[in-house]
Amino acid sequence: MEKFVYDFKEGDKSMKELLGGKGANLSEMILMGLPVPQGFVVTTKACDFYYKNKKELGENIKKQIFEKMVELQKQMNKQFGDKDNPLLVSVRSGAAVSMPGMMDTILNLGLNDETVKGIALKTGNERFAYDSYRRFIQMFGDVVMNVKHEFFEEILQRIKNEKNIRNDTELNVKDLKKIVELYKELIKLKTKRIFPNDVFEQLEMAIDAVFGSWNNNRAITYRRLNNISGLLGTAVNVQAMVFGNMGDDSGTGVCFTRNPSTGENKFYGEFLMNAQGEDVVAGIRTPKEIRELNKILPDSYRELIEIREKLEKHYKDMQDIEFTIEKGRLYILQTRNGKRTAQAAVKIAVDMVEEDLITKEEAILKIEPESLDQLLHEQIDLSAKSNAEILTKGLPASPGAAVGKIVFNVEDAKERVEAGERVILARIETSPEDIEGMDAAQGILTTRGGMTSHAAVVARGMGKCCVVGCSELVIREKDKIIEVNGGRFGEDSIISLDGSSGEVFAGKLDLVEPKLGCNFEKLMQWTDEIRKLKVRTNADTPADAKTAIKFGAEGIGLCRTEHMFFEADRIKIVREMILSENEQGRREALNKILPMQKSDFYELFKIMDKRPVTIRFLDPPLHEFLPKEQKEIEEISEEMDIENKIIKKKIGELHEFNPMLGHRGCRLAITYPEISEMQSRAVFEAVSQIIKEGKTIILEIMIPLVGNVEEFKNQKEIVKKIAEEVKSEKKVDFKYKIGTMIEVPRGAITADEIAKEAEFFSFGTNDLTQMCCGFSRDDSNKFLKEYIKLGIYKRDPFQVLDRKGVGELMKIAINKARLVRKNIKLGICGEHGGEPSSVEFCHHIGLDYVSCSPFRIPIAKLAAAQAVIKEKNKKIKENHEKLIKDVVLGIQNKFGHLIPKEELEKEVKEIINIERLK
Ligand code: ADP
Ligand code: MG
Ligand code: MG
Repeated sequence: MEKFVYDFKEGDKSMKELLGGKGANLSEMILMGLPVPQGFVVTTKACDFYYKNKKELGENIKKQIFEKMVELQKQMNKQFGDKDNPLLVSVRSGAAVSMPGMMDTILNLGLNDETVKGIALKTGNERFAYDSYRRFIQMFGDVVMNVKHEFFEEILQRIKNEKNIRNDTELNVKDLKKIVELYKELIKLKTKRIFPNDVFEQLEMAIDAVFGSWNNNRAITYRRLNNISGLLGTAVNVQAMVFGNMGDDSGTGVCFTRNPSTGENKFYGEFLMNAQGEDVVAGIRTPKEIRELNKILPDSYRELIEIREKLEKHYKDMQDIEFTIEKGRLYILQTRNGKRTAQAAVKIAVDMVEEDLITKEEAILKIEPESLDQLLHEQIDLSAKSNAEILTKGLPASPGAAVGKIVFNVEDAKERVEAGERVILARIETSPEDIEGMDAAQGILTTRGGMTSHAAVVARGMGKCCVVGCSELVIREKDKIIEVNGGRFGEDSIISLDGSSGEVFAGKLDLVEPKLGCNFEKLMQWTDEIRKLKVRTNADTPADAKTAIKFGAEGIGLCRTEHMFFEADRIKIVREMILSENEQGRREALNKILPMQKSDFYELFKIMDKRPVTIRFLDPPLHEFLPKEQKEIEEISEEMDIENKIIKKKIGELHEFNPMLGHRGCRLAITYPEISEMQSRAVFEAVSQIIKEGKTIILEIMIPLVGNVEEFKNQKEIVKKIAEEVKSEKKVDFKYKIGTMIEVPRGAITADEIAKEAEFFSFGTNDLTQMCCGFSRDDSNKFLKEYIKLGIYKRDPFQVLDRKGVGELMKIAINKARLVRKNIKLGICGEHGGEPSSVEFCHHIGLDYVSCSPFRIPIAKLAAAQAVIKEKNKKIKENHEKLIKDVVLGIQNKFGHLIPKEELEKEVKEIINIERLK
């Protein structure tokens, strides 16, 4: 019979897939001998079974749960549902990947009208018993029976108002008993069902609800936003309860072994005394800073500090720990690798290498490349702050800056962002329902909650600026108004947030580029030592090139020359060229452009001194340079003294039904060779000047959109001719390479022919994806979204390189090209060049470099280094496995098959591992 339920004692941290992250780590902590309440896990396989079995647990699983429950009773020396000595449990969800707040936890399960009395008697604390009971009914009612949280809160508030008290802790036994009755009535009223008294029924219903929540909207949204797929489901942990709400020597808290916002190696956390479960995270009472615990319960604090160290050493990573203290006894209820900002991730990784806790390679693998994006983003300009009106200051929950109009709910946030506005989501507190709004917003602002509140944790994960706990600020969500210190702000007011200081400002503050800091520099240096791929940048202007060099670009992989034509004074001349009746006219216009283009190249070369620079010749269809609006046409007609009619006629002539497949790229230059002549001259004259000034540049000229070698030859002739001309005119010698983009499928397929002529290839994977998949780059969004939802494509192929299709074309091209030119230089210059999984692919297929926009350079570098390390680790693992197989085979050959193969393998594995550790 398949095993669907595991005792915590049967698991360890390697079993995440099966036990979920929470269950695997609880098991591991028990192995480590930490104080963890006992319990068991209903596995993710059971969840999978549940969905295949029409959302029924089935007899087999129920039986296994029952058996483990009996074991748990023995271990705890308590009986589930017993009226004298009842066992209470928590029911907690936990998938293989942590999904904070995605699925709900039920505490105090096992309470009913009978057992509550038993608890009261046994603890001598009736208040505690009924406080636990009302919490249980509320959680169970909300999570399992779908009665909205607010209704319960309303009742609670009403009783508090009647008694004129503020805190839940001030409620007495009588109040709590009354609340329990009102809660039960509420459930009956809303669900037409009675709150279940049978504890096994409670347990089954709870497990059922956790499995059911795997496919609720919030969970699905979370998985979609985080690209989580391929999981079986969630596991359910059933764990003996410990109580933080037993009085003033009890409490509960959340802590991080290091600061998750800055990365500082300082214990960090919050707790509440006489509280249970989510009280800290929910932001109902404002929690205390962890160090205060030292004053209240010094022994527990000391023990917690010891556990902090143990856990960090054991997991070799910053841990996010949940704990509860029951009558002075500390229990650990969860540990996991903590979510952190990119800034913290970099600092923690670098610090841990310097503390000899991990290797450089491990440090590199710890950082999500995409997250570096946060570091490169803007901050509020310090000088703008001094003149700004500061409204209030909350807690700096997630760094960065945000400027935008205030919105008060998810719908408004999404709607206004879709309409092109920038917004800041303001909420009293956030809950998982708000995730899509948080995702859409520039930043998040809350009035309640601490550094570990939902808003704070999720925002840090998203890399979004977030300020929480602005208690001076009143948010009237329904009226869509914020009031603070006498001021009022509505939907159209702009505010600015500083997530690094917690300040909130009125109006729009200026933002500045961030500075990267020495930890970042160190990390980048390590990636430089490890990676094989070079990382170049796509840069069209000197400004881009400068930024790129600051971020560590090793050259330019794509300079789109057309971008030099769009500036106001230049586009006129370009239009003049396009509108010319004949070659003569075109040449005259091009002659005016020549010095401009030459000086652009010269500036670029100067900045890129000694590095390679790839200049791509004109690519877009000509009509992109012509005006579209009537007003513009009139202006041009006047300026150029050409009749309106003629301009319109020309625009009509240039119109194409499929411009992306039209008269563009080398096709344009083949029909108008004078364009290539001018561009060649501009490049070579600029190079000549650079050389005369004693500098150098590695020049590469790139012909776009080649699908047929004859196209390439045609252009190469022109380039060669002009090069010779310039050499003799300027009396200098220079070297250059000439190559092509591979972006037309025919180009990839005939790469052997093309490589005979071309000295390098750069994969233009934007166009290659468009033409390989047959998806228009400009219009595909309409159906691609649906495609991805349906799983037809897993990811948008314009964002993440489609390995099976486009990737295969690349491989074909590489193999064919290498047949005729062994050392052909290979790169990529599509958007994919800065996307981590695509970069990894580029490493595997053996490209020499990737080229991406300046802001993505660090991401590409990190991804390229990770690709090398992952490859190496994979090989080591394979060798290791092969070694075990060989040894087993050897033993069997010599001694026969006395011992079953699996057992033998296990034995050999252990011996080899021990040998390795020595
Ligand atoms: P989440 O995944 O949202 O963090 P958890 O399953 O960790 O949810 O549960 C939330 C909180 O409930 C825990 O941090 C802890 O405070 C409380 N809790 C869970 N199980 C127990 C237990 N066995 N005893 C006491 N408190 C518990
Ligand atoms: Mg939760
Ligand atoms: Mg938790």
